[in-house]
Amino acid sequence: MLARNKSIEICRQTMVELQGIPVSSGVAIGPALVLDADGYRISRCLVAAEDADEEYARLTRAVDAVSEHLEANRLETSAVAGEQTGDIFAAQLQMLHDPRLHSELGGRIREQNQSAAYAVSRVLNNYAAALRRLSNPLLADRAEDVLDIEKQLLLQLGAVERQPLSDLSEPVIVMSHSLTPSETANLDRRYVRGFCTETGGSGGHTAIVAKGLELPAVVGIGPFIDSIASSTQVIVDGDRGRVIIDPDQETLQKYEQRREQRRSLTARLAELRDLPAETADGVRIRLNANIEFPHETKACLDRGADGIGLYRTEFLYLSSAEEPSEEDHYNAYSQVVREMGGRPVVLRTLDLGADKMGHRPLAENEHNPFLGLRSIRLSLRNLDLFRPQLRAVLRAAVHGDIRLMFPLITTIAELRQAKMLLKVVAEDLAEAGIPHRSDIPVGMMVEVPAAVMMLDHFVREVDFLSIGTNDLAQYTLAVDRSNEYVAELYQSSDPSVLRLIKHTVEIADSSNTPLSVCGEMSSNPGRALLLLGLGIRNLSVPPSALPRVKKAIRSVSISQCQKIAERVMKLEAARDVDLYLLDRLGAIVPELIVD
Ligand code: PEP
Ligand code: MG
Repeated sequence: MLARNKSIEICRQTMVELQGIPVSSGVAIGPALVLDADGYRISRCLVAAEDADEEYARLTRAVDAVSEHLEANRLETSAVAGEQTGDIFAAQLQMLHDPRLHSELGGRIREQNQSAAYAVSRVLNNYAAALRRLSNPLLADRAEDVLDIEKQLLLQLGAVERQPLSDLSEPVIVMSHSLTPSETANLDRRYVRGFCTETGGSGGHTAIVAKGLELPAVVGIGPFIDSIASSTQVIVDGDRGRVIIDPDQETLQKYEQRREQRRSLTARLAELRDLPAETADGVRIRLNANIEFPHETKACLDRGADGIGLYRTEFLYLSSAEEPSEEDHYNAYSQVVREMGGRPVVLRTLDLGADKMGHRPLAENEHNPFLGLRSIRLSLRNLDLFRPQLRAVLRAAVHGDIRLMFPLITTIAELRQAKMLLKVVAEDLAEAGIPHRSDIPVGMMVEVPAAVMMLDHFVREVDFLSIGTNDLAQYTLAVDRSNEYVAELYQSSDPSVLRLIKHTVEIADSSNTPLSVCGEMSSNPGRALLLLGLGIRNLSVPPSALPRVKKAIRSVSISQCQKIAERVMKLEAARDVDLYLLDRLGAIVPELIVD
């Protein structure tokens, strides 16, 4: 993706189309809100050529004001803490008046017509990055000084801090270098219509949150932020992974029409809500929903979910300002289980780490965080984090049908340790006379090849299994699920992943262990048909995907699915699998094909 868009210059009055990775379907149209890599909102990237001199004068005034401020700090600090400490500010003053810095800023403003704020942000960030690359601790501290100067200049120039994106008052499309899952979770749905990022891959948790929020999104576009101005009209095509900057009238009309077509398909599919997810030959499939937040139960019920197949509880951490207490957990789980009115709720324990960090540093400086202290490994090492969650789960279970699932189980020892802790927590609750249930079903996610290989042992110790195809693909193919550089290799339809799924189905069937698939794979209608053909009878998908997947299920017979699976299992590459599935889906339910 990066190479494809690298040479594009967007700073001009013509329409530009960028290609990225589609991660959350739908079409969004609106003005761009551009965020720079460090989180400041730069309202204007460019100025008119005739305003460049005035813009440079604004920069000079800002430099003077910051200078004064630094000098005052230097004097005050020297008086209180000694001259040496005061010299910190002398060094900053020196940087601020560096002639090379001024000539670079001047060039950007006068020759490239960049706004002063934008030029400051880019140049000083580049300086800071260069210092950090020297990996000398003293110079790394200087990098912080450089960024401090940047911040002060930006404040003088009136660049508003991004913190948080909550002061929005009109609809926007967020355009950012990157967005973390928690930043995405905190986007204000009233105003943010969609987003695009330079980095990211289709399997990252940012993508998953976007789907949960039903925000059209395209990620992994490659560098484009440098050359787009805020307020430019943007179309985000989350179905095809396209972003259109400054669309002409014809394109705008085409996309408005597409949006209309989507709306009418959604309205037609909404009629399936109260019909069962049953194949044309009468096989009942359980169709559950994946959620990240309690408020999503409404979307699940509105779309006729049979239950919650995956509640990603770590989002309670990612969306709250402080670390959640046992009571916070209890309240959230109780709300979900009550609102689901007796339907089963599969609650997954914390899956923090890697791209989902909590409130305190849990695992720092890991070279390969996705292979590091994440998920169940992290929970088992931080019992003060894990225990309150387990207590809350058992307490909330008195209100309905809660089932508990451990993520990223790789070894039998981990599973046993987690189950042992659950037992101890139940005993503590019993001893303290706190209402709870200790007999809830306990399952595990199958998302590491090691777990698949050892599944005949695992099934003796769990009540159910759920395949997490997002991580299973990541760990089978050795592809970071959120890395745009290798996004094309990241395919849950890769034959190697399919073989692991098939093996899992065989072990689950022979041991009578209930099995579901809760990874994103099941939300793709073509891939869902394949899963039915492989023997899966329980799927869990984001609420937004429920109607389409139900439509696909109701349009097909199990024997058709088996034929599809038989053919697919002979193919050699993910691309062949997907082309074939698209072809079959087009023949069986053409309504679901996005042109
Ligand atoms: C998965 O890995 O497929 C899964 C469902 O879990 P997550 O996407 O939250 O890692
Ligand atoms: Mg996972």
